Amino acid sequence: IGVALSEDVKDVTEILRNADVAMYSAKGEGKGRVDIFEGGMHLQAVQRLELKRDLRRAIDRNELSLAYQPVVDLGSGRIHGFEALARWSHPSRGMVAPDRFIPIAEEDGFVVALGNWVLAEALSEASGWNRLGGDDVRVSVNLSPRQLRHPDLVADVQDVLRRTGFDPALLILEVTESVLMEDIDLSLRRLSELKALGVRIAIDDFGTGYSSLSYLQQMPVDLVKIDRSFVEQMGPLVGAILNIAESLNLATVAEGIETSAQLNELVGLDCPFGQGFLFSKPIPASEIAALLGAGPMRLGDGTPLVGAT
Ligand code: C2E
Ligand code: CA
Ligand code: CA
Repeated sequence: IGVALSEDVKDVTEILRNADVAMYSAKGEGKGRVDIFEGGMHLQAVQRLELKRDLRRAIDRNELSLAYQPVVDLGSGRIHGFEALARWSHPSRGMVAPDRFIPIAEEDGFVVALGNWVLAEALSEASGWNRLGGDDVRVSVNLSPRQLRHPDLVADVQDVLRRTGFDPALLILEVTESVLMEDIDLSLRRLSELKALGVRIAIDDFGTGYSSLSYLQQMPVDLVKIDRSFVEQMGPLVGAILNIAESLNLATVAEGIETSAQLNELVGLDCPFGQGFLFSKPIPASEIAALLGAGPMRLGDGTPLVGAT
């Protein structure tokens, strides 16, 4: 919802336009928001339109790339897989964060083309990784809300798998919890169709989306990713989420591990997998071979992960 006040406006047209600008500003910040019009918003709205226009050309101009963050087996320190994260190097603005450009792409449906590019790029870059370290290397790709709803999604994923020859069993598709609960029937159907391709499904940002546990039980998912906000505080909810996931037979990845104190607590709670700056920031594909060749993960200061407890 956008709100504009009648002070400082000439006429009805202007107040409607201001309310509209405030609405776009609210939408840009996420769902369920109300924003009140301020002068600076015009400039922001223009910048947003420019970014949207530039983003549509970014694929053809080779401005997009992927960074990969390792997902670590907390028991052995071995790399379980990598999450592919989109990066945009804008010709004049420099790096634009995905938190900024993914919502813009989502707004006008361009995210479907972008998501297909990410999937194809990730699977072709990752196709040789298994041989490097000897272990299976999984690749996680994020699906946006609009992608999940799109009728061509399953055919598109199937097509990319065929073209790249990537083993579907090693592909994990991440969907945020709030999206799954928005339309339960559609989610159930889509996820079942995706699972029929042989891929695995993860619930992203788990704990932030008000899941109904009874629906969660029905969802054909394999993995939950505990949102960074819980790992940051390491309060009692982390243990509770781990218990829920275990009783539903789901594997768990703790996101956003930054300190060894957090890691030690997670290992103590038998959390199977983790991801975070403590192990590694997202890195370009060119650095993956060295990381896989180096054996089990070490912490930033060189201590081996195994025995962190
Ligand atoms: P996400 O899927 O939850 O991805 C994890 C984000 O947390 C990444 O941010 C990653 O760099 C960051 N992160 C990982 N470890 C740590 C840590 O220890 N501390 C902190 N503070 N942050 C950590 P990034 O790459 O900026 O991506 C942000 C979000 O943008 C992603 O959140 C995801 O929702 C979205 N996104 C990124 N790439 C794609 C994509 O290809 N498609 C879609 N649909 N969304 C994407
Ligand atoms: Ca994710
Ligand atoms: Ca997440």
